[in-house]
Amino acid sequence: MQDVHVLVHPNTGLAFDSPVQPGTGWPGDPATPHTPKAADAARVRALAGAVGSIPDLDAVVSVCRACPRLVTWREDVAVAKRRAFADQPYWGRPVPGWGSQQPRIFIVGLAPAAHGANRTGRMFTGDRSGDQLYAALYRAGLVNQPTSVDAADGLQTKQIRISAPVRCAPPANAPTPAERDTCWPWLEAEWRLVSEHVRVIVALGGFGWQIALRLPGALEMRAMRGTPKPRFGHGAVAELPSGVRLLGCYHPSQQNMFTGKLTPAMLDDIFMEAKKLTGIK
Ligand code: SF4
Repeated sequence: MQDVHVLVHPNTGLAFDSPVQPGTGWPGDPATPHTPKAADAARVRALAGAVGSIPDLDAVVSVCRACPRLVTWREDVAVAKRRAFADQPYWGRPVPGWGSQQPRIFIVGLAPAAHGANRTGRMFTGDRSGDQLYAALYRAGLVNQPTSVDAADGLQTKQIRISAPVRCAPPANAPTPAERDTCWPWLEAEWRLVSEHVRVIVALGGFGWQIALRLPGALEMRAMRGTPKPRFGHGAVAELPSGVRLLGCYHPSQQNMFTGKLTPAMLDDIFMEAKKLTGIK
């Protein structure tokens, strides 16, 4: 009888377990079978504090097991799947940041979607939010193609990096405060490794905005003393003491796009503004 957990990647045609084992050839998998796995918050802090490059960070993030509830959820989803993807293997692991290692624009979301990035292994890839986001990034000339369907589809960028403060798909898109705190050192490490290049942070939603304000050097309270904390709004721009500009954007969620709270034209305006603030022609 066929093992129902070994399925073929829709693009490469190679067979994988679902969830995917590290170092077995999944496109873009940064890990090997020997990459150390963080099993608790203290280990996340230790590994994140020691990591010295984006590839090394991506590898340790992608095998993290520090949040028991999220590990169970992401792996259960990778086995149960959604009917439309029942014949595909799911990544079922934490999703590392995607994009340039020297980005001018750093885009911060919330967490991977259960049947999107948790399936494809790449940020915002394989769901409707990602369809809208990458189409807008393409129109702005920030990625090389308008679609983002799987991790072997050839998507590239020189200017941006997309990340999230929580790397595992959470039930109901709602990580707990403890899970957010446990995952935080990964984003802190990523920011340490890329921040010298970043001129603009685009925060997707109010949570992304609050997260961006927590990034080291993005908001130094001493420098900001006496001034109110910048408030999130679509199109809001805050100039941070580090010189980085923080640009607010409604999250391109299915609900926001469906209701028209956020339109493709509004997304275009955000990325044109991001380019202008960054100095990208
Ligand atoms: S949410 Fe973050 S800290 Fe928790 S298991 Fe996933 S990658 Fe690790």
